[in-house]
Amino acid sequence: MAGTLDGQVAVVTGASRGIGRACAIELANHGASVVINYLSNQEAADSCAQAVEATGAKALIVQADVSKADEAQKLIEAAEAEFGQIDILVNNAGVNRDRTIARMSDEQWDEVISTDLSSMFYCTNAAVGGMRERNYGRIINMASIIGQMGNVGQANYAAAKAGMIAFTKSAAKELARNNITVNAVCPGFVATEMVSALDEEIQQNLISQIPLGRFGTAEEVATTVRFLCTEGSFYTGAQLSLNGGQYM
Ligand code: NAP
Repeated sequence: MAGTLDGQVAVVTGASRGIGRACAIELANHGASVVINYLSNQEAADSCAQAVEATGAKALIVQADVSKADEAQKLIEAAEAEFGQIDILVNNAGVNRDRTIARMSDEQWDEVISTDLSSMFYCTNAAVGGMRERNYGRIINMASIIGQMGNVGQANYAAAKAGMIAFTKSAAKELARNNITVNAVCPGFVATEMVSALDEEIQQNLISQIPLGRFGTAEEVATTVRFLCTEGSFYTGAQLSLNGGQYM
């Protein structure tokens, strides 16, 4: 239902492409002003901002590497300076650097842990003060089916995503008294560049393991995120799994 986020401000990390872009547009479609964070793909961030503004919502683009604490802080400060408040924080930025454990470098471990897991802490840490002052917040952490079931070649990614789920549960308990809900969304395989970068044969093998017989779409994930911000007010500390039936 359009308009239910009127007057609210959403920060979406990694919003230039894929799931983050779809979240930015979905939240804008429901009336929120959106802060679009990206790492390096300015053209894609501009395109997302145009799509957000086409809905009639306001957009602010902020380049920041959220795997670094000072840049995450800069992102949150820029959002508050422009719009005066943050109601919704979608910790979505993520990368994968897949290798078996024996072949994984320290850098591949660190990059995934800092981008997928630490960024969530840095952004939440920076944003939560304002949310507590205003006694309202919706924090959504983009975890993954891989954080629930593990996967060969993804020990770094699985550890980061499982960490996000555990952080979500702790933050939900800690922040409930401030009327701030914190939830994890756990998509299965979704048709974005993260998945289209895989070999065609691997993609077909993945699809064969999904009971619904297809990848999810970024828009389907975005609808779940938006639901948590509009109707889902009694959800906190939850893991919302949307995976086409792919359980373990
Ligand atoms: P994607 O298409 O590869 O997009 C990744 C986004 O994250 C881009 O906007 C990228 O910005 C941004 N980003 C990467 N590192 C960043 C950093 N250090 N600081 C700020 N932004 C950064 O990925 P996706 O498939 O949409 O995935 C989005 C999230 O969903 C990730 O957390 C991923 O783990 C999770 N997820 C994905 C799937 C899936 O199947 N696709 C399934 C479950 C969970 P640039 O454009 O500037 O590079």
